[in-house]
Amino acid sequence: MAKGAGFCYGVKRAVETTKKIKIDNPEKKVWVLGELIHNSQVIQELERMGIMTVNELPEKETGICIVRSHGMPAVQIREAEEKGFEVVDLTCLDVKKVQQKAVELAKDGYLVLILGKPEHPEVIAIEANAKMYSDSVIVIPNIEKLKEQEELLKSHGKTGIVIQTTQKAEFLNKVCEYVLPFSKELKIFNTICKSTSMRQDEAKKLALESDLMIVVGSKKSANTTHLAELVSLITKTIHIETKDDIQKYRHEILQAGNIGISAGASTPDYIINDVIKEIEKIEERT
Ligand code: SF4
Repeated sequence: MAKGAGFCYGVKRAVETTKKIKIDNPEKKVWVLGELIHNSQVIQELERMGIMTVNELPEKETGICIVRSHGMPAVQIREAEEKGFEVVDLTCLDVKKVQQKAVELAKDGYLVLILGKPEHPEVIAIEANAKMYSDSVIVIPNIEKLKEQEELLKSHGKTGIVIQTTQKAEFLNKVCEYVLPFSKELKIFNTICKSTSMRQDEAKKLALESDLMIVVGSKKSANTTHLAELVSLITKTIHIETKDDIQKYRHEILQAGNIGISAGASTPDYIINDVIKEIEKIEERT
């Protein structure tokens, strides 16, 4: 098992605080705008406690509105307050730092490049907040998209870079290498969070001594997907969501001498433990 697998401190804080808010306020309705974390088992558990996940806050309702660890555009937070909801902001402090850096760059007149997935809630909030101060804000999901911005990079000359907290350092390096020749001034903030870089380093280390790596976590989770991509460059890798997926890989598991396990930041311990027990069952039966 790789060190640092499973819940990171930002996710842990979001899940534990949300549950505590509901326990302390049984008479109030608790709403989360968007999934609190990318894990359907945890979302179902919250629903059983009466904590509702919604895409929009319902009209004619009140209660507590939770801002999830990925953050939310400032304008949406204001709207929730204006509708009369009591807002509890559980944006991870590392995500807040990226938002602040992007805003600083936008205010200082840089062409702001946000490296990450345009449809990811963390990136949507970073982009929306920076765009309040400048139109020169672009989300870059890959090097091909960056190459389409060559003329803009040349004409602007002053470029600032931030990166989604759960991206890979390799992506940041490639972007910096590409942008440097076009820049008169380049400001780079490596905003990949410590928890993500540590998780990735430990998983890579374990992959070096494993015949098979099993990465556990939601396919919607950016950090879990990146983790699986990284270790797949080193050894045979399977990405599963829960123990129910294990039987499909029975053959690979029996073939492997050493099996390494890691998990994304939104994967609870009990899901990881269930996966381990399921693997042990396969080995016992044989
Ligand atoms: S992965 Fe990093 S940025 Fe995201 S919630 Fe966890 S600690 Fe915060």
